[in-house]
Parts: sequence; C-alpha cells; structure tokens
Amino acid sequence: MAVKIIFVTGGVISSLGKGITSASIGKILESRGLKVTLMKFDPYINVDPGTMNPYQHGEVYVTEDGAETDLDLGHYERFTSSRLTRFNNVTTGQVYYEVISKERRGDYLGKTIQVIPHITNEIKDRIKKVAHVSAADVVIVEIGGTVGDIESLPFLEAARQFRLDAGYNNTLYIHLTLVPYIKVAGEIKTKPTQHSVGTLREIGIQPDILICRTEKVLSDEIKEKISLFCSIRKEAVIEAKDVETIYQLPLVFKNQILDEIILGHFNLICKSSNLADWEKNVVERALNPKDKVKIAVVGKYIGLQDAYKSIYEALIHAGIANNAKVEIEKIDSEDIEKCGPEKLLKDVRGILVPGGFGVRGVEGKIKAIRFARENNIPFLGLCLGMQCAVIEFARNCCGLKSANSSELNASTQYPVISLIKEQKNIRNLGGTMRLGTYPCKVSKKSRAFKYYGKELIHERHRHRYEFNNEYKKLLENKGIVFSGIYPKKNLVEIIELKDHPFFIAVQFHPEFQSKPDNAHPLFKGFIQAAIERV
Ligand code: GLN
Repeated sequence: MAVKIIFVTGGVISSLGKGITSASIGKILESRGLKVTLMKFDPYINVDPGTMNPYQHGEVYVTEDGAETDLDLGHYERFTSSRLTRFNNVTTGQVYYEVISKERRGDYLGKTIQVIPHITNEIKDRIKKVAHVSAADVVIVEIGGTVGDIESLPFLEAARQFRLDAGYNNTLYIHLTLVPYIKVAGEIKTKPTQHSVGTLREIGIQPDILICRTEKVLSDEIKEKISLFCSIRKEAVIEAKDVETIYQLPLVFKNQILDEIILGHFNLICKSSNLADWEKNVVERALNPKDKVKIAVVGKYIGLQDAYKSIYEALIHAGIANNAKVEIEKIDSEDIEKCGPEKLLKDVRGILVPGGFGVRGVEGKIKAIRFARENNIPFLGLCLGMQCAVIEFARNCCGLKSANSSELNASTQYPVISLIKEQKNIRNLGGTMRLGTYPCKVSKKSRAFKYYGKELIHERHRHRYEFNNEYKKLLENKGIVFSGIYPKKNLVEIIELKDHPFFIAVQFHPEFQSKPDNAHPLFKGFIQAAIERV
C-alpha cells in the first residue's frame, strides 16, 4: 500500500488547536488499525526551539533521540502510540541549512538555487524520509502558522506539489478554521472561513475536509453554506465545538465519522474502530472525578499556559489515574521570594517545582521546597527542581549556607550542582545539553522503585548541569537517598527523602512520557500522596 499523507493547515487565527486536532486524527486512524506517524512543520528560521525563551515558543518537547522540538510533538505522542524522532519536526532553518550546505558542497553544481524546486524538494524529501523510516501507513503533516503568512508559503507549496507526485487518493488536505459567534448580532459567521479557504485555493490547495472550531453547534444550514462556498462536501464539514477535556476530541471526530471520510478518500478498508477504552478510562474518568486535589506548580514561566504543557498534562493524567481532578495553582516563584511560601502555599496538597534556566526566581523555588520538606507536603522536583532541592538540603540540613549551582553562581563556595567535564568546553548553545533518553538504575529499597516497579528505567533529559558527586556522602549522611543513578557515568538521576510522605526529585523530565491512559508512575504516586494528605 502506498503511504497516505494528510496535510493539516490552519486559517483565520492561530491557537485553534491544530496540534490537538492532528493528534486526534492520528488517534482515530490508529483505532482503525493503521500505523500512523505525525510531523510538524515550523516556519521559523531557528534550527530548533531549543534556544528560544518559553515565552516565545512554549515548552520545548524532547524526543527519545534527544531532539528539542515543538510542543505539538508532545500531543502527538500522548494521543497516539507513535514514537517520534528529530525528523518529525522540520523548521525553515533546518531546510535552508541543508540546502545551503549542499550548495557549498557543490551538489547542485551549475544551478541557481531557488525556493521552487530546491527548498520545496527538500521539504518533500523530509516527508518521504519519515514515511520510509517509520514504515507508517499514514503520515499526518501539520503545517504551523496560519494560511496567508509569508513564512509558511514554501511548506504549503510543497504540500500542493505532493499531490502531483503521490496522487489524489494518497494525499488529503484538512483545513482547520474558526467559525465565530458574534454575540451582538446573535449569529454564527462563516465569512472568515470562506476567506481562509479562498486564500488556500490561491496557493493551489483545495481542502478536502474542513474542521470548524466553534463555540456553538453548527446548524445544517450553516454547514450547507460553508459546503457551498468552500466546495467541500457537507459531511466533510466537521464541527469541532469546544470540549471540556482535549481528550474528548477523538470521540467528537469519530461521532462525525471523520475516520470513514478519510478512509473513503484513501480507498482504504480497515477494521472497525474501538475507542471504548479511551472513552471509559480517559474521557469518562476525566469528566467524573471522585476527588479534588490542589497542586502548586512553582515556576517562573507561569503566565503562559504552554510553557509547562507536558507537566500540566502529566498532572491531569495522574488525576485521571487516581479518579481525582487536579486543580493546578500556578505560582510565580518570584512572588514566593517577595511574600514567603506560607501565604501562597498554605492550602495546597502538593508542590511541584519544574525545570528552568537562569537565576531569576530560583530563590523562591528553594523556599517552596523547604516549605514542602518541613511541612510534610508531597513534593515532586523536575530537573532544575531537583537541583534546587539539592541546594536547599545542602544549605539548610548540611550547614553549607552558601551552597549553589555553578550555573547560578559561578564562584559559589559549595557548587553542589556543577558542570561535568564534557560540558566544560562546549561553546555552542544549540543542541549541546545532555539530551534525550538515558537509562537509570533505581535502587530496590527506594520509594522510586515502589512507583516504577522495576530497576531499569529510561527517561528523557534536557540539562547541562549535574549533581556534584563530591557532596554525595555528606548529603547521604544527613538523610538524602540517592535512589537513581545513570551507571555509565555515575550521575545522580533521582533523590528522595525517607521520612516524608512524598519527596522525590529527578534530574530528568518524566512529564514527556506520561499518557492520558498510562500516567507516569512518579506523577501518579505524587498525586496519590497529595490526595492522602488531609
Ligand atoms: N538549568 C539547568 C541545567 O541546565 C536545568 C535545566 C532544566 O531544568 N531543564 O542543568
């Protein structure tokens, strides 16, 4: 069977949920027995988002192979069973980098290098490569940005050309638009959608399916109107009304037989779908929690919903696993610096300190961790969160008053967190951290083992600094348990405290592997401990 390619574009405005839409399409196709993979095209010139501020870009999602990618890849992995690599996220920067390198090598000798065909060919080759390497039946390609942006034109042009190469029944164009409800007029408006489809047509793409984001139900009449003006069959005008949980979206699509419409276009006959487990174990549990638990996330990128995306999702998954609704209280660590932890943290049942870079807000995180440790509040520290827990313990329990990380104070007297040899001579900042999956050995008697249930685990990393083993004995004598080690380099991966309801901090990012129907064991244990704390 020839591989099938689905292009997902967006129109009218950004932030319509193209990533979740693409992931949900992946889910319903997977439920029909197809092997899917997903790609994200990002029209910016950075090679990857690794060096961008989270306020610019949101979370940087890390794949198993250590690529720093767009956060939509997180949605893809959470909704489907696809495992993504560095080839699944393509940026304009990567494409030009490759084409210019080839030009310098002389690969195009004698030719003038142009957007068409050289850039567009490079983009198409990347789709073919992923199709080949993944051996997927269907590749879903989400094109970032909004139709009409200058930046995304080469990607859209490559998508247009793809149908010429691969054939009508092997390519499908899905366009996501906004159908706004105008309150003062009391009406739903289709004009922005008509314009957006018009713009896409000017580029040479006639969408086969339209997915309409809306606050209100779309009447038959509205669907007919959209169908007529946009030249799309009425049943292929899909309503995507706001949902309570994003995990409902595959069911919303399924109810409108989106999977059948897609399979019909591809001339595919597949087994019938089974989303019953997803509905029962994810959606119904998310919508009908028996308990409620308030968890503080103490970070410095609190203002942006997307900056800690995978962490928030992992907390939701852990809630689902414990039949509880997790209410996330986002607390700016600089506010803790200003008014102390008591006021802001007194009524939370768990405290999570996420990863981060740089000195701003760190003292607030350290105060929050001390508060959790001294008041027996369940605590989960991730990456910088673990480093802060080490600093806090060294300062307040081991008498090393000025302990710090050498990232935060290069001349600290007690660098309990520092650079290992390999990192010391690195000059380039892009793609040079400890990145991707590493094995970790969990000690059998630890709490971590109780949650993981196994000795050998694999978790994803994204950091430069490490626990400084010179301080290991001292901290151990004062009560820290070093319960997870990367054996090959003897690097500390997990620390915990014994006499505490839940105090675990990890150098890696467990949030990247949590799934709605398979919550990460540490998050699950953390939420369980938080529920048990009365
Ligand atoms: N800034 C720290 C380091 O580079 C932690 C990174 C993180 O939390 N992702 O080691």
